Parts: sequence; C-alpha cells; structure tokens
Amino acid sequence: MADSPPAAPRVLVAGSANLDFLTRVPHLPAPGETVLGPEYVTAPGGKGANQAVACARAGGAVAFLGALGPDPFAASLLASLRQSGVHDWTVRVPVPTGAAFISVSEAGENSITVASGANAHLTPEHLPGLRGLTHLALQLEVPLPTVGAYARAAKEAGLEVVLNAAPAAPLPADLLAAVDLLMVNEGELTALAGPGEPADQLAALSARGPHTVIVTLGARGAGAWHAGELLRVPGHPVRALDTTGAGDTFAGVLLAALSEGKSLGAALRRANVGAALACTRPGAQPSMPARAEIEAALG
Ligand code: ADP
Repeated sequence: MADSPPAAPRVLVAGSANLDFLTRVPHLPAPGETVLGPEYVTAPGGKGANQAVACARAGGAVAFLGALGPDPFAASLLASLRQSGVHDWTVRVPVPTGAAFISVSEAGENSITVASGANAHLTPEHLPGLRGLTHLALQLEVPLPTVGAYARAAKEAGLEVVLNAAPAAPLPADLLAAVDLLMVNEGELTALAGPGEPADQLAALSARGPHTVIVTLGARGAGAWHAGELLRVPGHPVRALDTTGAGDTFAGVLLAALSEGKSLGAALRRANVGAALACTRPGAQPSMPARAEIEAALG
C-alpha cells in the first residue's frame, strides 16, 4: 500500500520519532575511551513512529502524532511514515529532532544513547481532535505528563487507550486508571508489578485500571490477562536474525487488528506472527511485515 492514499485514521499513535545512527564497533567504549568503527548507517526509529509504521503495514488506518525539529532529519522520518501509509499529524518545535546513537559490538552487545530533542517538547496542547478515532496508542519516550494528559482526554472521548509501558518507568495511579490495555515485556512487567508469578503480576496490574494486560515473552510468544482469565499465545517459530523493533511490531499489528474489531485472541495471534516475521530481517521499520505476509504466515 506504499504511497496510496490511506483511509481516514481509526488509530492515533502519539509518541517519539528518532533518527537512529548505528555503528558497529569491535567493543563498547569504556568511560573516556574512543573506539573506531567502520562507518554508520541511519534508520528511522523511535517507539511511536515504529508502532505507527507497523500498524499501517498490517493494514491499520493510522495517524502519528509526534514532535519533530526544524532540520533535515525530520523530512527523512516523515518520508518513511508516509511511504508506509501513516497519516502525518506531527508538529514542529524549535528543538533538534530526536536522535539515537547505537553502538553494536562484535559480541552483539549494544549501547544506546538517546537525545530526546523534539520528543521532550510534545505537550498536552498538541493533542488534536479525536473524532473518528477508536484507539489511542502511547509509549513512554515522551514526557509522562503529556502521556497522562493524552490518556485521560482519549478515555473521556470514549477511545480505547493502549499504553506500551516502555522504556520501564513508574506509572502514576491516574495514568494507569485511564489505560484500557497495557502492554509490557517481561522486564517491564517485573519493574511495574514486582517479582512474582506472571499471572499474579498481570492480575495485579489489571487491578490498578487496565481491563487487559499483555506481556510479550520473546521467542515464547505472549500472554494476556483479560476478564479474570489468562490467555496464552505460543511463540511463532522463526530463525531470528535481529529482534530490534519486535515489541513495536507486536504493538502496531495488535492495534491494526483491534481497530478492525478483531477479538483479543485473534489480535494477539496476528501480533505474535507479525513480530516473529520482523525478527527474521535486520532493523526496526524496514523489517516490519505487510498484512499479506502476516496472513500467509497465519495460515
Ligand atoms: P521487546 O522487543 O519489547 O523486549 P519481546 O522480546 O518480548 O519484546 O518480543 C516481542 C514479541 O516479538 C514477542 O511477543 C514475539 O511475538 C516476538 N518475538 C521476539 N523474539 C522472537 C523470536 N526469537 N522468535 C519468534 N518471535 C519472537
């Protein structure tokens, strides 16, 4: 669906957009050390933009709200969003576009520094009218007061509010109370709920507001707590090459399916297959599967 006019959005993803600078290095630098790498590549990133792209590729009608700066990086991020069929609801602020500096060592370890830049200037006032939308999707790479204000406004307007609580951070009670569907990975689950059995951790978070709490389990698939029951989706077996963006792909495909009215179980199965497919190719946005590929893999 590249460059075709997208349908009026049903999903709004509000969050971060970064340009990623990736360098391979022999080893990660110690404090004060300089390490030489061969060259760098750039790639569009940021959890918000990634999730919007994954949603659009999976067939979702989606808009992205984020803050970009007055620089050429903004244009390159917008080009990637548009090419995937995402509606551009971005705002411009007089601060450089967000950037992530990623070093990957020969041992496969990485070190990531994010300069939030424009992302830190997304404010409650930037939220547009929500008419026609069914879902608002949020993550934690923009200021927490903005995330909270958006969640409460969307909840009041009758939208389903989806929060991917990544990167992990303590969540204020009034934010969790405005969230309908919370999505975390295993590390974030323990950071938010404390140690324990996964079913107990999910139930404890659900008791604080969200009717559904999803945990992604890497190669083991995903689990969800909904209406007092635990749903389990086993991993979709693939030869994983690069899991960058797996969680964002899961979130985007899930949003596409839920906004079409699919059941939670069906949406989880699609998200799990879509995220597994993204693991078979390098990068985040470039690895995200199209709807037809997801449906073929679902069988
Ligand atoms: P994050 O990338 O946010 O840490 P996970 O590692 O839990 O999240 O991965 C998100 C989803 O990606 C999983 O629920 C699963 O659907 C898929 N996934 C991740 N790693 C693999 C893998 N090795 N094989 C198959 N699917 C995977």
